[in-house]
Amino acid sequence: MTSLPSMPQDASEARTLPGVRPAVRAVPAYPFTPADVPIKLDQNENPYDFPADLKAEALRRMGERAWNRYPDLHADTLRERVAGYEGWDAHGVVLTPGSNVLIKILTELAGIGQTVLTVEPTFSVYTLEASLLGARLVQLPLNEDFSMPVTALKAALASHEPGVLYITQPHAPTGFVDTPEAVRDLVEAARDWVVVVDEAYHEYSGTDYRELVRQHPNALSLRTFSKAWGLAGIRAGYALTSPGLAENLQKLVSAFTMNALTQCALEVALEHPAYVQERVQEGVQERERVLSALRDHPTCEALPSQGNFFLLRVPDPQAAYAHLLSRGIVIRRQDSLPGLRGCLRIAIGAPAENDALIEAVQALR
Ligand SMILES: *Cc1c(COP(=O)(O)O)cnc(C)c1O
Repeated sequence: MTSLPSMPQDASEARTLPGVRPAVRAVPAYPFTPADVPIKLDQNENPYDFPADLKAEALRRMGERAWNRYPDLHADTLRERVAGYEGWDAHGVVLTPGSNVLIKILTELAGIGQTVLTVEPTFSVYTLEASLLGARLVQLPLNEDFSMPVTALKAALASHEPGVLYITQPHAPTGFVDTPEAVRDLVEAARDWVVVVDEAYHEYSGTDYRELVRQHPNALSLRTFSKAWGLAGIRAGYALTSPGLAENLQKLVSAFTMNALTQCALEVALEHPAYVQERVQEGVQERERVLSALRDHPTCEALPSQGNFFLLRVPDPQAAYAHLLSRGIVIRRQDSLPGLRGCLRIAIGAPAENDALIEAVQALR
């Protein structure tokens, strides 16, 4: 993997680009540096590629498509397939190239000139889009145990002009799962808001907020093919919501944005979803194995998680990051985030990768 050398200082000088909105200039570029090492545990990806036979079938279908023709305007065939898989009305399904794009569109729908309410720490894309698009961003600190500050969030819902409320279950980057009562309480308090339940990792936690979302036309469940499905490179995510909210979201989705390859890959994946369950089972087993192997570490604390990743609190995060990297393992530092002092975020890999991780962490002091 290569990345461009860093930009010369004067190329980013704001005053040479007066047309760029100040809000955009003020936001730093997405902070991600790819590392070229064998064990990649820094992006919560699935350690396994899309199964080879399914990949071959998707490519065969791609070969039969006319590449000179635009794909489906709103990926209607795929919306129906996703609806069938999720037991949802196809009119309430919105597909985008990754759920990150949906987060941008949700901010355009209900955040611009309004409020984006979330917790802190939170998934960086919510706050990034809010800042870029000039939404009023309100963040409330998580409780000490990483649960949501429900009372404070309800007070904020009542005292701010509406907009978007983000609830992440399991939470990122902590992997914490709140009680269904807490989530319901918030969704019910947010009837004038667009309420997003981001369920990017729900396969690993076994939580499922479809029923709650079904009862609230202003709510949506955000799901992705990037994690449990092992299709992060294909770029696809979707919202499950009411037809009314879906219709408005769809207006903001660029026409023809779900490309032909993505459509072929997802059609094949949705025809053969059994592989997902097998991998999720292994991922959950491996997560528990790693957490228990690190339980008695003298200086590092592995925090419980319901996702395909966990937080490791270490005495010296910079040294720990370098130590793991020297052993060919890249993880993500989170220690500058509020409430996450000393924390590294580590994805669960394949068993041999997890063995290497455990061994490397055992050597940390
Ligand atoms: C990984 C992740 C997503 C998925 O993003 P995509 O654009 O679909 O790859 C969404 N929300 C959270 C909290 C995530 O961690």
